[in-house]
Amino acid sequence: MFERSFDSESLARFAAVEGLASIARVPINERMQRIAELAARSTGAQGSVVSYRFPRKTWDHCGTGLFEPLVNALEPTWFAQSMPTPKAIDHDAAAGFYTVAVRGLDDEPTGCLAVFHDEPTKLNGEALASLADCAACAETELRVEALHDNQSQLLEELYMARQQALQDSLTRLWNRQAMSDLLERELARAYREDTGMGLIFVDIDHFAGLNAAHGRAAGDDVIQHVTSILLRAVRPYDALGRYGGEEFLILLPGCPPETTRQVAERMRTAVASEDVPTEDGFLSVTISLGVAACAEGAIGHSPESLLRAADRAVLKSKQAGRNLVSVAEPGDYHVA
Ligand code: GH3
Ligand code: MG
Ligand code: MG
Repeated sequence: MFERSFDSESLARFAAVEGLASIARVPINERMQRIAELAARSTGAQGSVVSYRFPRKTWDHCGTGLFEPLVNALEPTWFAQSMPTPKAIDHDAAAGFYTVAVRGLDDEPTGCLAVFHDEPTKLNGEALASLADCAACAETELRVEALHDNQSQLLEELYMARQQALQDSLTRLWNRQAMSDLLERELARAYREDTGMGLIFVDIDHFAGLNAAHGRAAGDDVIQHVTSILLRAVRPYDALGRYGGEEFLILLPGCPPETTRQVAERMRTAVASEDVPTEDGFLSVTISLGVAACAEGAIGHSPESLLRAADRAVLKSKQAGRNLVSVAEPGDYHVA
């Protein structure tokens, strides 16, 4: 059997990439903890802490103690413990500490990095530079965290905006735009996989009259009630949308013509057999339905011709007295 082997350089590269990926998953307080440890090591300190307020606005402390800085030294600065200093808990026995500010996104100090020494200490230039570098690393971590927060929020807003653009606000069903997109996609799939698809157009009968007699709010109640009945009649992989005011469209992927007609018939009887509770009392409501289908192997119907056929079938139901299901005839598929 052929087995691929990697040279040591490639393996080292993979390990580095894996390492990077794991760094990206490390929570901010763990990253800050590493910075605090690095700061202590590079300055020979007995303890260290990074204290910062972002992003949760309360103080977070990573390192070997708690530290609530009252000073915002932009350069590493020594404070003897005997001076009126910031609160250094767990390091109150230290002779003093060096501290340097950690700035937030607005460039204002939002926390600090402190290293504690048991003896009065004067760090050399290199150690001071390391301390400043560690504070800069902590600032970068805060920026990355802020960026991550902003991105997550943006993604959430984008998702909501997209959802709203495709959803009908009254019924929370797909809206007309979404149904047009879905029809195109599902039809292409039905042809590609040779599975066929059923289409049902639903129109509530005498809805203008119902609005006029009982008010638009009662009309809205009716739309929502019909929605719940239609929802009960479809399968999870069918698509149900509000196509217009009192019109609904249902796509039934893989559903043969006769089964589609039976589903439509079930919808019709379900609506007709239940009085609808509205704010103007119980009302009896009926729907007219039109069924179109692209049968298995039937290549050629466009989304427009299917919609047209279902629409013509609804018209036949209306003309024949309403509260009926009609199936489109071959001639109904031609787009004028
Ligand atoms: P038909 O039986 O032939 O379908 O007659 P119809 O009265 O149902 O049809 P028509 O197209 O004349 O009227 C549809 C009405 O639906 C007109 C419009 O004011 C109303 N409508 C559209 N959107 C809404 C809505 O969101 N809420 C309510 N309450 N009414 C709506
Ligand atoms: Mg209508
Ligand atoms: Mg109507």
